[in-house]
Amino acid sequence: MDLKQLTAHTYHLRAGSNAGLLLDGKRALLVDTGLDRDAARRILKHVAALQVELAAVLITHAHADHFGGAAELKRRTGAPVLAPAFEAAVVENPALEPVYLFAGAQPPAELEDKFILAQPCAVDGLLQPGRQELHGFPVEIIPAPGHAHNQVMVAAPQEGVCFAADAFFPPEVLDKYGVPFYVEIDQTLATLASLPALPYGLYVQGHGDAYDRGGLEQVLDYNITRIEAIREQVHTALATPCDDSQALQRVADAMGLRIQRPAIYYLTRTTIHACLNSLRRAGRAELSLEENRLLWRAV
Ligand SMILES: [Zn+2]
Repeated sequence: MDLKQLTAHTYHLRAGSNAGLLLDGKRALLVDTGLDRDAARRILKHVAALQVELAAVLITHAHADHFGGAAELKRRTGAPVLAPAFEAAVVENPALEPVYLFAGAQPPAELEDKFILAQPCAVDGLLQPGRQELHGFPVEIIPAPGHAHNQVMVAAPQEGVCFAADAFFPPEVLDKYGVPFYVEIDQTLATLASLPALPYGLYVQGHGDAYDRGGLEQVLDYNITRIEAIREQVHTALATPCDDSQALQRVADAMGLRIQRPAIYYLTRTTIHACLNSLRRAGRAELSLEENRLLWRAV
């Protein structure tokens, strides 16, 4: 995990899944924790090298790669862990993630690796939107739903830095996954549209670089274009009525994706569901039960 200084008092901890640090004298706020115990240990090495103590750990959203290190961090430092409502329920009960991916049933082992099932961590308080002081640090908590139900971004107004987590993805991540994970398409697009109006100069991504305002506009366009293309591909798939698995197959085929693992299949299926619901709300798709099949068709 590499430590990159962003401004006088903020740092980006770069790994497969990034974290952020906001410093004030001898204390620090940590934003996200990386994937697991190892990530937590690497974060603590950097924290020790900076000669600060963790005042609190803020979780942007309850995906294993963003909160999987929380339990270890809390055990080793005693720092309180804060998360938005809804996400906090998953941080405390990580089994909810594989369970919701498997439509509420007890999931198969393929959905229980550390990328989906994290270590549980007790949450000490809920993050509420707005400008506020948290453990002595001035911050703004900004709602950014869409990739996760109640994801937030954490901004440091005095530093001009917004830790944006997975509110948007770098182009290389979008290209790698083809169909990234979204639970709500309209909210995702609204979140992306809201970013340019924020007063911050630097937008720190959960799986890539920090973007200045010039770079941000470009990367937001890339995200919006990709999401709209996926949703259009789903709409095209419904030209012949089909169920959700057929819609997924048609979209993956059309986009040249070859899904290799059951976990990726279920993650992709969630995004397909999000697109189906978005199309339905827009009056562009409808669903009906026919011969025990739930069929979606384009309108
Ligand atoms: Zn995520």
